[in-house]
Amino acid sequence: MQVVTMLPSGRGGLHRGCISVASGRIVEVVPAPVGVAGLAAHLDFTPYVALPGFVDLQVNGALGHDITTDPSTMWPIGQRLLSHGVTAFLPTVITSPPEQRHAAYHHIRTRPRGYDGAEPLGLHIEGPVLARDYAGTHPRADLASGAEGLADELLREADAVSLVTIAPEVESASKSITRLAGAGIVVSLGHTAATAAQTSAALAAGARALTHVFNAMSPIQHREVGAAGAGLLHPEAFVSLIADDHHLSEEAIRIAWRLAGPGRICLVTDAMAGMGAPAGTYRIGSKTIECGDAARNSDGSLAGSLLTMPAAARRMRDVTGATWDELAKITSTNAADLLGDTDRGRLSPGKRADIVIVDAQLQPVATILEGKIAFRRRESARITRSASPKAGPASATPSPVAIGVDIGGTAFKAAIFDGASLGPLRRGNTGRDRPAAGVLVEVRRTIEDLSGTAGVDIRSVGIACAGIVDGPAGVVIEATNLEWRNVEVAATVGQGLGLPVVLEHDVYLAALAEWETGSGVGAESMLYVSVGTGVAARLFTRVGTNRGNLNLAGEMGFMPIGAEGRPLESVASGRAMSEAYRHETGVPATAEQIIVASPENPVAARIWSAAMNALAQGLAAAVCLDDPEIVVLGGGLSNAGDVLLMALEPRLASLLAPLRDSPQMVVAAHGDRSGVVGAALYSELATSPAAGGSRSSAVTS
Ligand SMILES: [Zn+2]
Repeated sequence: MQVVTMLPSGRGGLHRGCISVASGRIVEVVPAPVGVAGLAAHLDFTPYVALPGFVDLQVNGALGHDITTDPSTMWPIGQRLLSHGVTAFLPTVITSPPEQRHAAYHHIRTRPRGYDGAEPLGLHIEGPVLARDYAGTHPRADLASGAEGLADELLREADAVSLVTIAPEVESASKSITRLAGAGIVVSLGHTAATAAQTSAALAAGARALTHVFNAMSPIQHREVGAAGAGLLHPEAFVSLIADDHHLSEEAIRIAWRLAGPGRICLVTDAMAGMGAPAGTYRIGSKTIECGDAARNSDGSLAGSLLTMPAAARRMRDVTGATWDELAKITSTNAADLLGDTDRGRLSPGKRADIVIVDAQLQPVATILEGKIAFRRRESARITRSASPKAGPASATPSPVAIGVDIGGTAFKAAIFDGASLGPLRRGNTGRDRPAAGVLVEVRRTIEDLSGTAGVDIRSVGIACAGIVDGPAGVVIEATNLEWRNVEVAATVGQGLGLPVVLEHDVYLAALAEWETGSGVGAESMLYVSVGTGVAARLFTRVGTNRGNLNLAGEMGFMPIGAEGRPLESVASGRAMSEAYRHETGVPATAEQIIVASPENPVAARIWSAAMNALAQGLAAAVCLDDPEIVVLGGGLSNAGDVLLMALEPRLASLLAPLRDSPQMVVAAHGDRSGVVGAALYSELATSPAAGGSRSSAVTS
């Protein structure tokens, strides 16, 4: 099986990749080929993002079940965790009489026949070797006065136990930590009053982590930084973190992020029975807990959480700005590393194919367990576009009046389009220094203004946006050119507007405009090359592949080139040329100025030549693989202008000549308005009854 999806790039962003899976293992992870002809049976999850399956080190219960009370419920809980993207977890037993732990040892060894849920990787034994003053919801009557008895027990049951939480200041804890660590049981420090010195000594003795750092442990004070301070400062200790609104303030999360960072934080849920269950009263061990907005004891103190891994990851990203690479570490890689599990935690060859595919809000779209789809969100089925725009000429059916908006890396443009002609363009600035909220407010005002002065009945609004776009959800997942991440474009613009608003990739929509009303008429296939702040390409064919083979705006931009693997977009775009020139000379210049200066100026000449070579490589690959009948050159050209187009045209023609017999290359009929025309056309196609209900989720009104 091959899975095509967005993947963390290793440099903070995303690229479109293909994961090959066989016999439950990842065989290969490569950039997705241009077009899909070379792929055997494959699943295309673009634009959703693949991360290694979540690993949760602390699950007390869920769905009304408490694992301490009834350890057999770890199996139905594990089944359900798949819908949260969790592919492995540690069922957790809190402080309780020994017979409860023995029941848990038995049940984790008694795997139900045919079980295909998230994998219990061994128990997390939390208590009874805990500090009385930091016991939290653990029953004080069952706390142990020394550690040796528990250590003896765990060493006998070592095959059933992965991790134990211990307060290191309890009598004989230090010796026990060394014995347990020596037997391969991970020791984590928690529910502890330990001083910084005691904590450091325990870490030196073999402990490797802190359990839910900050919660239920000695705090950071000015002359005594406690367990929390010592653990966060330690260069190698992992710290688990309950990143919900109740356990940690934003400041506490930021302190943990600054000190431990993505390399040492493991997100855990510490979920208890009330998670995934209606509000009400549930158990954790021997205690009765009230679950409403949080899980609380009768005195109001927290007793586990109602958190899920997607929600934890989302809050971490909101607070810290964690990149996709960093999210993979704190939800999976670090936990696998802490457990010494070399099979999990990474999307790389040889690892188990445990994969979670998430949307922009980090909600699982699908969970793949050992190479098989174990969970799939119902609405995530890929939308095919066979019923969307007709291939070939469409001018025979004039569209009703719509407003098109093209949000590019430098500027946005908006205008009314009546299916035949485009009204006057309205413009505004975008750019990396403008926050999304401000741009979208301006876009909405522009649309209100256009519809108010139109004198005709506006029926819909289409928005084209650069980057990785989840059209059906109306969300921009990531737009590097704009520094936008997870921006709800359709909903934000649609608020109070009274018109249906749809969102799509800017290059797709620009290509649609040319295909439907301009250059594509009569052609069998068309490669649309967009040159703007970035460079992208898209193929259209007559046979209904309206969206092209690439399925993603800016895909040429994701094609790595050169020894250092720089993406094409960063060297071939107008902005990249400007940035490169400024970097080398200290002098600001537009791409247009660089091209004009290039005959005499050696730096300008070198940058212009590098940009052309990068573009040539990408185009050559696209033309070879897709064999287009016609190549249309268009795009916003915001930072480069006509000079770039004029310079590009002969150069591209000479590139195409050896690749294809009698290549035809034209400049886009709509010029830099292609995106606006395409967005307006698309909004009509997407919101018309003929398109069916398949796109209704993209529509806000
Ligand atoms: Zn705890």
